[in-house]
Amino acid sequence: MIVVMDEGATEAQIQAVIDRMVEMDFNVHRSTGMVHTVLGGVGPEEEIDPTAFEVLDGVKECHRIMSAYKLANRHFRPAGTIVKVGNVEIGGPRVVIMAGPCSVESRDQILLSAEQVARAGATVIRAGAFKPRSSPYSFQGLGEKGLQMMREAADTHGLLVVSEVMDSSQIPLMLQYVDILQVGARNMQNFNLVRELGKIRKPVLLKRGIAATIDELLLSAEYILSGGNYDVILCERGIRTFETSTRNTMDISAIPTVKKLSHLPILGDPSHGTGRRDRVLPMARAAVAAGADGLLVEVHPDPDRALSDGAQSLRPEQFAELMDQLRIIAPAVGRTI
Ligand code: PEP
Ligand code: MN
Repeated sequence: MIVVMDEGATEAQIQAVIDRMVEMDFNVHRSTGMVHTVLGGVGPEEEIDPTAFEVLDGVKECHRIMSAYKLANRHFRPAGTIVKVGNVEIGGPRVVIMAGPCSVESRDQILLSAEQVARAGATVIRAGAFKPRSSPYSFQGLGEKGLQMMREAADTHGLLVVSEVMDSSQIPLMLQYVDILQVGARNMQNFNLVRELGKIRKPVLLKRGIAATIDELLLSAEYILSGGNYDVILCERGIRTFETSTRNTMDISAIPTVKKLSHLPILGDPSHGTGRRDRVLPMARAAVAAGADGLLVEVHPDPDRALSDGAQSLRPEQFAELMDQLRIIAPAVGRTI
């Protein structure tokens, strides 16, 4: 259930509505917008009559939200969510570019990566220190040492850090080093992990599962939001289909669909979305043109020697070219970069 308060509703009126909702067994989440306060209620909404709320003092309107996700629903924050991390805003007019190698491999590699992506215009460095590899014999990541190297590289070049958390036991460690915690595609439905991420107060980048529907993605986001962490950024990274010519099928249509259904920002990941560096630029352009709030792109100083995902990692000069192209595309769709 969503209760939209009148413009100028008093604190006492808002509190009275919250008290009534709590009395009726609703868990209440409050969102204070520029004009209206919106109260999202998770509870027995089949049993309520919205009119009974609409007649309360200070209430503008009340709606039942029958979709399973309530806090991730666009109705909860019609104007959209802007996730603020340091001086970067994700979900605002600026398209935010997060770029870097698939994995942290060495101090030199991550320092050079940070320098290259920062010079081209990225604001966040991406790289994994804990890697979810399909084979247990593949490179598994440098762990805490990798996180330390990433933090140093980011601080040296004025970047923020996003890195993947694979298990809830890693959360305290991640919080020491990263600005955004990434949940990988394979963990989107690790409900224990997403529930724990609802308890922290740092942004979470939630990637769509390999075989997940958009509803399932939004329900996983709902786990995080319902814990009180509203700073969730979604990411379309390709899904598995019958098509074999690319590693995954990048579902560009998920971007406007999520925008319609949810207030959460969404990024496009054309690297995992295609699996081949020669397909990354066109899909990155398409994602921004389709309304993505940013991109997550793999870039490596020497991709042919990368320890993971080299084939889909851009060379630094290709990344610089992509940024130049986005500087033309973003304004054409009302965004900056
Ligand atoms: C990654 O970002 O390197 C990664 C492992 O992504 P995904 O979870 O989308 O496969
Ligand atoms: Mn990767």
